[in-house]
Amino acid sequence: MKFTGVPLDRAGNLRENTDWLDAAQQSPDARFISVWNDLVLFDDNDDELMLQALCSDHPMTRSYKAGEQVFLGLQDDRPFFAMDLSSLVESELKTVSRAETDRYIDLRSFMPKLSHEDAALASYAKGMVYWHQHNRFCGLCGAETIFLHAGHMRRCSNKDCGHETFPRTDPVVIMLVERLDDDGNHFCLLGNSGNFSKNRYSTLAGFVDPGESLEEAVTREVFEEAGIRVNNIRYEASQPWPFPASLMIGFRATAVTDKIVIDEKEIVDARWFSVEEVQAAGDWSNETANGLLIPRKDAIARHLINRWVKDCS
Ligand SMILES: [Zn+2]
Repeated sequence: MKFTGVPLDRAGNLRENTDWLDAAQQSPDARFISVWNDLVLFDDNDDELMLQALCSDHPMTRSYKAGEQVFLGLQDDRPFFAMDLSSLVESELKTVSRAETDRYIDLRSFMPKLSHEDAALASYAKGMVYWHQHNRFCGLCGAETIFLHAGHMRRCSNKDCGHETFPRTDPVVIMLVERLDDDGNHFCLLGNSGNFSKNRYSTLAGFVDPGESLEEAVTREVFEEAGIRVNNIRYEASQPWPFPASLMIGFRATAVTDKIVIDEKEIVDARWFSVEEVQAAGDWSNETANGLLIPRKDAIARHLINRWVKDCS
């Protein structure tokens, strides 16, 4: 699954060892993944995109404010950090960049071209930077927060408050709803959210509410979006989804009703599709294709769909 399998030991035991961290940041072995306005630096060379992890003596690394690089972990003995360069304007980035092939890319658009390892590392770095960007002020008293534990905690600077906050991801349930008709034919429920062109359909999904189990979220979301009641909810897989900060938690569920009533505020259409229709569907990265299009193979939605087709075939 894309964005899983970060090839690092996260080495949480080193995050409070400031002497070790200072030395690690100066080490010639250290590598720095740079994030600029939600984009991540890659080397775009001969149509091959490779994550551009900079050395400690690179001008971009040296010009960055020391001490606020997020420690991501170790690859063997090589420390990896993430740094946020979003305060720089584009011309400043070019000034400190060394290579013509340096390019800041949107991970979602280029997802199919990224290696599994690069996608995972870039997603982790982007996720940590995003969390810092959105937690610079205390949610309780509004004072500035302080970067601590190598970027894995922030504490309110107001001594009367001292509120601590930690990196978070937002849980999202995503589910393939299946139905068997009286003749033994298999169908799955796919929806179009209106964010895609009209022939693109995907599994339903939604954020988990406070005070709700994952199974309860699946039940509620399917009923809210499509008016379908489900039971027999089974966990299948999960995928970090850094757009901006979600964890997709994938399920399969069995429909116990079949009449679709959509919530027009959430989606523009939902339908039951047969196994044959799904097998004949195109990939929605092919923007000009006609007929049913389903998500790209590196998204968990496609994983859920493919497993269902395999089980029904
Ligand atoms: Zn506070």
